[in-house]
Amino acid sequence: TPLIKKQSSIPVALYGGRHAVSMLPGGGIGPELMGYVREVFKYAAAPVDFEVIDIDPKTEDNLELDYALTSIKRNGVAIKGNIETKSESAGVISRNVAIRNELDLFVNILHVKSYPGVPARQKDIDIVIIRQNTEGEYAMLEHESVDGVVESMKVVTESNSDRVARFAFEWAKNNGRKKITTIHKANIMKLSDGLFLETSKRIAKEYPEIEHNEMIIDNCCMQLVSKPHQFDVMIMTNLYGSIVSNVVCGLIGGAGLLSGKNYGDHYAIFEPGTRNTGTAIAGKNIANPIAMLSASVDMLKHLGHQQHANLIHRAMVKTISEDKIHTPDLGGTAKSTDVVQRIIDHILQSDIRPW
Ligand code: ATP
Repeated sequence: TPLIKKQSSIPVALYGGRHAVSMLPGGGIGPELMGYVREVFKYAAAPVDFEVIDIDPKTEDNLELDYALTSIKRNGVAIKGNIETKSESAGVISRNVAIRNELDLFVNILHVKSYPGVPARQKDIDIVIIRQNTEGEYAMLEHESVDGVVESMKVVTESNSDRVARFAFEWAKNNGRKKITTIHKANIMKLSDGLFLETSKRIAKEYPEIEHNEMIIDNCCMQLVSKPHQFDVMIMTNLYGSIVSNVVCGLIGGAGLLSGKNYGDHYAIFEPGTRNTGTAIAGKNIANPIAMLSASVDMLKHLGHQQHANLIHRAMVKTISEDKIHTPDLGGTAKSTDVVQRIIDHILQSDIRPW
């Protein structure tokens, strides 16, 4: 759909230095948000070519999933929306989890940074949530041992806890962060969360320049709502990470703003931070395009296209923080396409265009 008014100065892509990226739109608002990414990339002359893979939520076989995995393995990088699983069969697992596991994307980073000018419960938040992304409560080992009794295994391994903690401390060091808080429930889950906590304490000793403390997940939720500025970088297992990420996103303006990064040793996937499908708001031109655009900016930085990333990011900040073109989730009346149009206008007026 040609949503953006005609512009005259679309830059011509130069040969060389382009990247192929897998694009998995997913369900709900995913496809429309990907349309905005493509539109913005066109005007920013972002040197990226997308390979689009749709996974039918109703399919029971894994052919499309396998194709998506092959594509991501070939390209190394993907941008994705939330993929739904609508099969009746209990044997069909979440494709989102399958992708993260298969590519061994063991860590998820959500940088929760307030946008000035956006109405929010808390101001000036700058928290980084580093989440174990492939095991814990998402091990998907559930069974009904006898009628009416279901058991679900939470798996914590020393090797994964070790690499998440190392990743977090290295990330903190390289990004000038001062403190890491390990979030856990080791008072109850003494073995599983105990291992995660002990491992992070052990790694912390190797980084004396970074302060390390710990907090029980219950208290963490209360502290986040009442005194969030005490947090710098936080690490936690998978399910706590999902919940805490949503809490902190809620503090700064909701699901429509932030992006999350999934990393392993070999591949990276960029997506909206809270991983929502947004089924109820799909096709209405009201979804906030910022979360997915922010994921695309993360992706450009990852690929080394820093100038293009800066160009798009600056245009987004101007639109949201200065012009205050806000979709309904932020209390505004703008359509998704109004936000995208303004971002493109800023890109075209920018004096830092990389071409
Ligand atoms: P479902 O899979 O049924 O859609 P979910 O758990 O993925 O459920 P959603 O209902 O999709 O969660 O999203 C949670 C809330 O966040 C909803 O109110 C949704 O409208 C909102 N939301 C998610 N993404 C956006 C966005 N980009 N812009 C505006 N609102 C959003």
